[in-house]
Amino acid sequence: MSVTQRPLDLVPHRRYNPLLREWILVSPQRTQRPWQGETTKQAKSAGVAYDPACYLCPSNARSGGVKNPAYTSVYAFDNDFPSLLPVNTAKAREGGSPLLVAEPERGCSRVICFHPNHSLTMARMDVADIAVVVDAWADETERLGKLEYVNHVQIFENRGAMMGSSNPHPHCQIWSTEHIPNDPKRELEAQKQYHDEHHSCLLCDYVATEIAEAERIVVENELFIAVVPYWAIWPFETLVLPKRHLGSFTDLTRAERTALATRYDNLFEVSFPYTMGFHQRPTDGEAHDSMHFHAHFYPPLLRSAEIRKFMVGFEMLGMPQRDLTPETAAGRLRALPEKHYAD
Ligand SMILES: [Zn+2]
Ligand SMILES: [Zn+2]
Ligand SMILES: [Zn+2]
Repeated sequence: MSVTQRPLDLVPHRRYNPLLREWILVSPQRTQRPWQGETTKQAKSAGVAYDPACYLCPSNARSGGVKNPAYTSVYAFDNDFPSLLPVNTAKAREGGSPLLVAEPERGCSRVICFHPNHSLTMARMDVADIAVVVDAWADETERLGKLEYVNHVQIFENRGAMMGSSNPHPHCQIWSTEHIPNDPKRELEAQKQYHDEHHSCLLCDYVATEIAEAERIVVENELFIAVVPYWAIWPFETLVLPKRHLGSFTDLTRAERTALATRYDNLFEVSFPYTMGFHQRPTDGEAHDSMHFHAHFYPPLLRSAEIRKFMVGFEMLGMPQRDLTPETAAGRLRALPEKHYAD
């Protein structure tokens, strides 16, 4: 039986789900990718400063044949097997039926190595080294945001094999896209509507509420606050917010960059597996004044390293559910020793 080639079969595109009224990103070109990167061998090499088999270590060859430079600080490069491509020649929008809607999605995927040392994690890096990473996030946001086909810059890190990242080398990814993805778009709309109704910023007001209640604060400094949000889904989900209203990495002052690095360092004294990422102002040329920059941390752990939370059953079909209250979770995070577990 032959399969009809669809116009967007070989290029990154997004398809519309009319039931949920949201889009999904499809990257069919990635199926050409050799299965190479993530092996258990690499997962076991976490303790060494240099791993000859790691495609992210300095001077090593990557699967695309490119050799990494002998980098000594942060190192950013285009993903060899990107989910998004800058040039997307497909013109066709699918949609013979109004229920089959798809369109090309342009963008690019970058990788940033945080440090040449394979064995480090953000939790164990110096504040000065994390500050260099924060600078790289700001530089990448600025540079990518200026690209004609980029309207949103999503920086994220998957840490730990549990989160699907079996390469322990400290790194993050940046997926920048032509369209604003579902969640940031929803959050933008909520912030805009709140601003229209209350003439103030949703997250500025939220910061003030959390400081007043003081029940869900995990850590706080002069410029940033980290809370287990009142509406948290994951057991130890954390939201990091600047106390000042600002929309993007590019708005951070030098003092705020240092404070963010410090906050990050403290929050990560415990080496949780997690997915984390920043939500910032889209780069589509609109003002987005009501957008308040923030970071989400989603660790899947429940009680210990062995017990993780899965989103299944009612949670896949209905809505998220949790047992531990966010107030209790914040209390437990506050009570953790500052010293890293491995020291
Ligand atoms: Zn490495
Ligand atoms: Zn604000
Ligand atoms: Zn967000």
